[in-house]
Amino acid sequence: MVNAKTRPHGDHFNTIRPGMHKYIEWLGGPERLAQLQVLMDNAEQQLPACPFCGAPTVLRGRWMYASSGVQAECSQCHCGTQPLFQEKTVLNRYYSLEEQIERTVKAWSRREEATA
Ligand SMILES: [Zn+2]
Repeated sequence: MVNAKTRPHGDHFNTIRPGMHKYIEWLGGPERLAQLQVLMDNAEQQLPACPFCGAPTVLRGRWMYASSGVQAECSQCHCGTQPLFQEKTVLNRYYSLEEQIERTVKAWSRREEATA
């Protein structure tokens, strides 16, 4: 059962513990990590419910090899956006995590209008 008070939360890089210096530095240090987590908490609130099953959507921080990424994912059926690990801008640089959060919210919120 899901209601507003028990809305699920995604992993906003919460599994990175203070002792994990390598990963904290990799994300830009403890202050930036805390800022990212606030951004992710706020962005998660903006995500519309899953279009398939209606369950709340969570924002998940992901990391793999030398890349960190952000993904919107349904808390029930686990459909989601493509994590933005390796996507490059036209200027051939990687999106910052802040940009990934913004783009992920936009991607998940986009809905095609039904046509007659
Ligand atoms: Zn769903």
